[in-house]
Amino acid sequence: VSERLIYQRLALVGLGLIGSSIALACRERGAVGEIVGFTPSAAEREIAKSLKLADVYPESLAEAVAGADLVVLAAPVGAFGAIAAEGAAHLKPGATLTDVGSVKTAVVRDVKPHLPAHVHFIPGHPIAGTEQSGPASGFASLFEGRWCILTPAEGVDTEALARLERFWQGLGSSVELMTPERHDLVLAITSHVPHLIAYNIVATAADLETVTSSEVIKYSAGGFRDFTRIAASDPVMWRDVFLNNRDAVLEMLGRFSEDLTALQRAIRWGDGELLEDVFTRTRAIRRQVIAAGQETPEPDFGRHHGDKDAPKS
Ligand code: NAP
Repeated sequence: VSERLIYQRLALVGLGLIGSSIALACRERGAVGEIVGFTPSAAEREIAKSLKLADVYPESLAEAVAGADLVVLAAPVGAFGAIAAEGAAHLKPGATLTDVGSVKTAVVRDVKPHLPAHVHFIPGHPIAGTEQSGPASGFASLFEGRWCILTPAEGVDTEALARLERFWQGLGSSVELMTPERHDLVLAITSHVPHLIAYNIVATAADLETVTSSEVIKYSAGGFRDFTRIAASDPVMWRDVFLNNRDAVLEMLGRFSEDLTALQRAIRWGDGELLEDVFTRTRAIRRQVIAAGQETPEPDFGRHHGDKDAPKS
């Protein structure tokens, strides 16, 4: 048995960007013995098969999770409650159940009540992604050099936790532990509100009457283009993020609106000093992001599949 092997049987529930990337990374690094892939969509199952993401593709959730040592929920977070309700009774005693959902308190709320005591539930969130979605969008290096946040409850089995940490480290990530509440607040400002801003500015531009949309597209290199990349992210996944991290997002949006009003006022009153001061501070943050190695590398798309722009089926 390889020393890299962390779990014998892995069940992936959801085979989109994150699920398919976990499958490819596990294969490349020998982290699991067998991969069970589950998605309710027959069309996605066929794509997953053609990409050889998993070893078996059961048609029922019960079959998929039965006998798995690690079950990873990788569907949109709004689906987790129903998945847990249907799958819980089929989980093997001693199995670890984790997820990759972008919010954590709502996931604990929706999943935990369904679980038997003999299952180790350790919620998680790899801070890695792209604006692509679907089974053809994954790539094995997605988690390399990224953080994965785990939000175990107090009293969690320490061996199960250590093993899940080794799993993510085996895929190239560093692991950080946090409470679900802390996670949701931090991610509201680092991920959720930035996505909302991108969705909003692209929608605002699309609705303009005084500037045509062809002009917006033609001159997009002026800054708009970078927002369009983020605003192309999966609509269902992001709908569920906002519905399930409401309080933290509203809190951060309140702060954001206040600061935006201050900038608006500085522009109105010609307060160049304030503008320059803010822009200088933000430039320093950008340098810190680069220094911390958190600038997105170009995904290694070509190696594992064909068309990175293929529409989600
Ligand atoms: P995605 O590419 O849209 O994949 C989601 C997959 O889940 C799709 O294949 C979808 O199938 C499937 N699915 C839907 N309902 C399901 C169910 N009831 N049971 C099993 N599978 C189901 O999205 P993703 O980007 O991989 O996101 C998956 C999870 O990772 C989300 O919880 C998200 O919050 C989290 N996450 C995303 C990112 C990111 O940047 N994208 C980063 C970190 C974490 P259909 O298409 O047929 O509905």
